[in-house]
Amino acid sequence: MLHFDEIVFGPIFSRRLGSSLGVNLLPSKGKLCNFDCVYCECGWNRDGISDKVFPRLADIEAALEKKMSAALAEGVPVDSITFSGNGEPTIHPDFPQVIDVTLRLRDKYYPEAKVSVLSNATMISRPDVAEALMRVDNPILKLDAPTDELVGLINKPAGKYSVEDTVEHLKKFEGRFVLQTMFLKSPDFDTATPEMLRRWMDIVRILKPREIMVYTIDRETPDNRLAKCTVEDMTSYVKPLLDEGFKIQIRG
Ligand code: SF4
Repeated sequence: MLHFDEIVFGPIFSRRLGSSLGVNLLPSKGKLCNFDCVYCECGWNRDGISDKVFPRLADIEAALEKKMSAALAEGVPVDSITFSGNGEPTIHPDFPQVIDVTLRLRDKYYPEAKVSVLSNATMISRPDVAEALMRVDNPILKLDAPTDELVGLINKPAGKYSVEDTVEHLKKFEGRFVLQTMFLKSPDFDTATPEMLRRWMDIVRILKPREIMVYTIDRETPDNRLAKCTVEDMTSYVKPLLDEGFKIQIRG
């Protein structure tokens, strides 16, 4: 399974993001997340090695500054700075301050670079976390299913989770976010029954995200009974939204 043992890694080149620095705000030796998605590329929470030590704000700032100043000195481009890593970045206790520091260093070294955060949106009930996400260029927020039952099967939240509450909090973004939804098949559930698709699309129409990213499994998954969806499948699932003018990236 994929693990990041540095706070700041890269730059890695991809066609989608260009030259990208990655930031891992989670413990370096194992996954830590308040979800435990069946498809998580970092594996199950239980398979982490009980490393629960978050990097300190000062160390994150130093790592970012070191990486960006070195890249600049070497003439290496940085087009994006992306928070993902070994779990959910917004559970870092200083997440809002980390975003402030990142935006300041971005403006100093690579003012054109876009800051993205991949988040499961579980912490956006906290105003400081939601406001921090609103300050970045690309808050990419996950909602995989329209019912608590299906979220339970796909994302296995720790503690209380409610789709209804999450949607209420997402409304505060007033569409200024990217909605990310995973489509996949399992013997235990189907993310794309007509009923689930209808309810998911109703939520999309309420939230009006500026962009939607639908994707499917790509690498090894902790639950090894999962199957990918094809691009053709996903295109047919989202066709009504495409026809209504929503901007949708479909990644197979
Ligand atoms: S939210 Fe992301 S990090 Fe957390 S379990 Fe799901 S895929 Fe893994």
